[in-house]
This record gives sequence, C-alpha cells and structure tokens, in this order.
Amino acid sequence: MRYVYGPVPSRRLGFSLGIDLVPFKTCSLDCIYCQLGRTTQKSVERKIYTQKDNVCEEVREALRKTERIDYITFSGSGEPTLNLEIGAVIREVKKITALPVAVLTNGTLLFREDVQKDLVEADVVCPSLDAASDVMFRKINRPHDALKLDSIIQGLKKFRMIYKGRIWLEVMLIKDFNDSTEELSRIRNAISGIQPDRVYLNTVVRPPSEMYAKLLSSDEMMTVKNYFDNRCEVIAEFHGQKIGEAQNVEDAIIEMTKRRPLTSIDIANVLGVSETNAKTWINILKYSGKLQERQYKGERYYSYAIKK
Ligand code: SF4
Repeated sequence: MRYVYGPVPSRRLGFSLGIDLVPFKTCSLDCIYCQLGRTTQKSVERKIYTQKDNVCEEVREALRKTERIDYITFSGSGEPTLNLEIGAVIREVKKITALPVAVLTNGTLLFREDVQKDLVEADVVCPSLDAASDVMFRKINRPHDALKLDSIIQGLKKFRMIYKGRIWLEVMLIKDFNDSTEELSRIRNAISGIQPDRVYLNTVVRPPSEMYAKLLSSDEMMTVKNYFDNRCEVIAEFHGQKIGEAQNVEDAIIEMTKRRPLTSIDIANVLGVSETNAKTWINILKYSGKLQERQYKGERYYSYAIKK
C-alpha cells in the first residue's frame, strides 16, 4: 500500500488506520522535536500529491482485511492539509465507511477558508499549538517564511466557530523553550480563545529531530496540566508508564528481532505499517537501547540488544 498504513495503536484514537497524503517530509514547519527528522520540503503551497481513487481503493482493501479499526486518521509523513485533495478524500472515505475520521494537523493553514472547508466533514481535528509568542514559534517550529503566528491562532478560532466536530488541541512542551511561566501563560490565553474540546499535553519522549529538544519530567508535566486546566490531559508516554497499546507494538518488534535480524521493510511488512512508521518505532527502541543496528551488504539490520 502506498497511502494507507496500519492500523497503528494510538492513545487518543485507539486502532487508527493511517492515510498519508503527502510525500516524506513535506511540511509547513520544521519542528525541533519532529520524530520524522528535518523537513526536506518546507512549503505552504497546496498541491495534489495523490490519486484520490487509488487512496480510496487502498482504504477499501484495508477495511476488508482488518478486523479492528477505531478511526481513519489523516496523518503520516508531513502536513496532510498541504494536499489539495484532502477534502475530497475525506468525503469519499465517509461514503465508504461509517468509521469516524480524524485529521492530525499542525494547524498552520487553518486560517485559509479552503482548508477550513476541507476539514468540516472530519469527526475530529487535532491541531497543534506549541507557542503563542513569535520568538518561541520560530525557535520551536521553524515555520515557512510566509506563516504568521497571529493568523494561525486567529484561524484556529475561526475554525472553532464554523466546525461542528471535536477539536483536540495538542501542545508539545520542550524543556527550557515553552515551559516558562510567561510562555505557558500566553499559550493558556490562546487556548481559552480557541476553545478546543480537549487539550493534550505531550513532551519529547521520542527521538527528536534536534537532540537539544529535551523532555519535561512527569512531575513537570503534571504541574503544567494543573496550571492550564484540569480538563487537559498528559499523553506523553514516560518510561515505566507506557500505555498498553504502545507496549504491544514494542513487544512485537522485540519478539521478532530476538529471533532474527530484520530490516525496516521486514518489520513494516509484519506489522502492516508503512516503512516510515516502522522506522519511527525502530528509532524509539534504538534510542532506549533495546535494538541494535548492524550493516550487512548495504542493508541495515536490527536485532534485539541483549543486556549483559
Ligand atoms: S508539524 Fe508535525 S510533521 Fe511537521 S515538522 Fe512539526 S512535528 Fe514534524
């Protein structure tokens, strides 16, 4: 499958069948915490990157083959709203299945009316907002030059007014960047203007694009949660407190690699996910010392790192 992957276990969305509408890594931002690495195609230009009929055919095939799917989720290798066809694909998917549709977006293009219209049919829109000051927006999200933070926040507010579905806003907290009282106060004010249905707090628990992007501790996350609002939720998966579903994927990879060294494509095929997705999990496990990498005849192989 080219556009569809999973289902992937997700804390917010259960078993989520992913639809990846943009080539790796096409995004309007280049976040220092991005787990996909640095943005190679920084763009705000919406284009047709897919063939809608092929995407829908892959969705039909995945639905036929898979027993449990909780959400159809537009996400993947970059910013999905950069694909001009996202609205048309959402509408087609809604004809194919009654499953709820979610869109994970960085929210930077939601000030545009065409993007707002494209997302109105989704059941859940999950935008992110990591900064409410220009300085911090530039430091954390390294946006495309054409983007203005004020327009983005106004766009989120406008979208709230026209959109009848649920908005689950995510804030990524980074040590010594947006965790000061001043920055948190600005973000809190922006959130109260946007009025999302839920706020999820995350931190850099997975390997970031820039190693200087550090995570907050579990206690620090709880302090921010209490400062923001009791309704917000911490979704970061701290070591020793991993969620059940994520643990299952990790366990599956560890069990496989205990038996024989595997490439990222082998792992993707066994898990039924895209290679990009498999690489994300491989990086998490390498970072935590559970997998080791070896090169053999031009291929990278991963095997379980036995503790001595
Ligand atoms: S918006 Fe998402 S995909 Fe784009 S750089 Fe940031 S974290 Fe990565």
